[in-house]
Amino acid sequence: MSRRGRKRAGEGAARAAHDESLCRRCGRCCHAKVIVDDEVYYTDIPCPYLDATSKLCTVYEKRFEKNSECLTVEEGIKMGVFPADCPYVAGVAGYKAPHAAGDAAQTARMYRGQE
Ligand code: SF4
Ligand code: SF4
Repeated sequence: MSRRGRKRAGEGAARAAHDESLCRRCGRCCHAKVIVDDEVYYTDIPCPYLDATSKLCTVYEKRFEKNSECLTVEEGIKMGVFPADCPYVAGVAGYKAPHAAGDAAQTARMYRGQE
């Protein structure tokens, strides 16, 4: 039975230092997400610490201090914040990726709790 309601999901997921080479720097996991009825949706709102050009975290060493919603890789997999083609979830049995951002304005309103 799905739970009604919505909440903000973590703004992103941080790459673990030991396997950073897996990251393709698409930046999608560092965008805000919303959860509606246990389904995760991407928004087009990037974390304020994500560099728009390089798609790298500008505060990587202090990311958990700077952004309380930043997730570890393990947390990100558990919450389902990585897209299906992200190398970090390749081979993860039963992994369910977020839905792509649909209407950008709508998902932004969802994220801000206005819908
Ligand atoms: S703090 Fe860095 S790693 Fe964490 S979500 Fe923001 S840009 Fe991504
Ligand atoms: S979704 Fe995966 S490949 Fe893209 S930035 Fe995040 S960790 Fe890297």
